[in-house]
Amino acid sequence: MLALASAVPAKAEQLAKDLFGAKKLPAATPPASYGFYSKGCLAGGIAIAADGPHWQAMRLSRNRRWGHPDLIRLIERLSREAVQDGWPGLLIGDISQPRGGPMVTGHASHQIGLDADIWFTPMPPERLSVAERERVSAVSLLKEGTLYVDDRKWTPAHAALLRRAASYPEVQRIFVHPGIKKKLCDTVTGNRSWLGKIRPYWGHHYHFHIRIACPKGSTGCTPQAAPPRGDGCDDSLAWWFTEEPWKPAEGPQKPPARDVMTMAALPKACQAVLAAPAPPSEAVVTLTGQGGVAAASAAPALVETADPASLLLSLQPADVPRPTPRPY
Ligand SMILES: [Zn+2]
Repeated sequence: MLALASAVPAKAEQLAKDLFGAKKLPAATPPASYGFYSKGCLAGGIAIAADGPHWQAMRLSRNRRWGHPDLIRLIERLSREAVQDGWPGLLIGDISQPRGGPMVTGHASHQIGLDADIWFTPMPPERLSVAERERVSAVSLLKEGTLYVDDRKWTPAHAALLRRAASYPEVQRIFVHPGIKKKLCDTVTGNRSWLGKIRPYWGHHYHFHIRIACPKGSTGCTPQAAPPRGDGCDDSLAWWFTEEPWKPAEGPQKPPARDVMTMAALPKACQAVLAAPAPPSEAVVTLTGQGGVAAASAAPALVETADPASLLLSLQPADVPRPTPRPY
């Protein structure tokens, strides 16, 4: 008993998900992703505003609109450019907590600010209320009770949106349900090279999940191997349409990693991320819209500065682009 107690100091027993889940604001430091997508944390994160010209963020109460600035800018860019594909705007699901880390509910990954969930439901023309954003549920693209896409719900705009997202070099993977991958494999003509980034996975028929590669300069970020070459419309996809992936697991179930992870399991840097000061307000670290070019030009200050004070200076509200009507 005693030996056990001294081997496990009380502090180490605190769950990382509780420590990270309690943070309301990011670490006001230069941006950096530490660790792996499913075991790490995020410094210098910024938020995407609840509303932008071409997006609405959902489930605001979760406070998961935070990510590495590279990812947040990429979502803004996708929201804007997808309009050309007939996609009126994004409904944005979970990204990361302000300082990343494991979450109290949901998601094994999304821990280092490089993962984002986007709903397969197009943004409605009206602004949803805060309550609606909690309540409204996304629509599955599958035919009920099957592994296949419902052709009454699938549109060319869904394919175009996924192609657009996959076209960005930073995007390394996009997770979708195997049925959606199959639909793309069966229907996409012309250049199919982008299909290799579209990775079949459980879930992901209400939303797709964009994962970007470790950003330049994030030396503490553990990269994931690039997806295999080819379009992935092969045996690896066929496997998903066998019984094996859907069999209930046998034997006693281990709790999800996020439910037992302590700070000891995370990179050392995550201690400093937790302890770092917060910015003076959420507003100074929120991307509010129409940012593509303007926000990107503000990026060097964000990425290269080593001094939190100058970081904050670079994020004064006047520098953060404001939504303006666009001529679409
Ligand atoms: Zn996700």
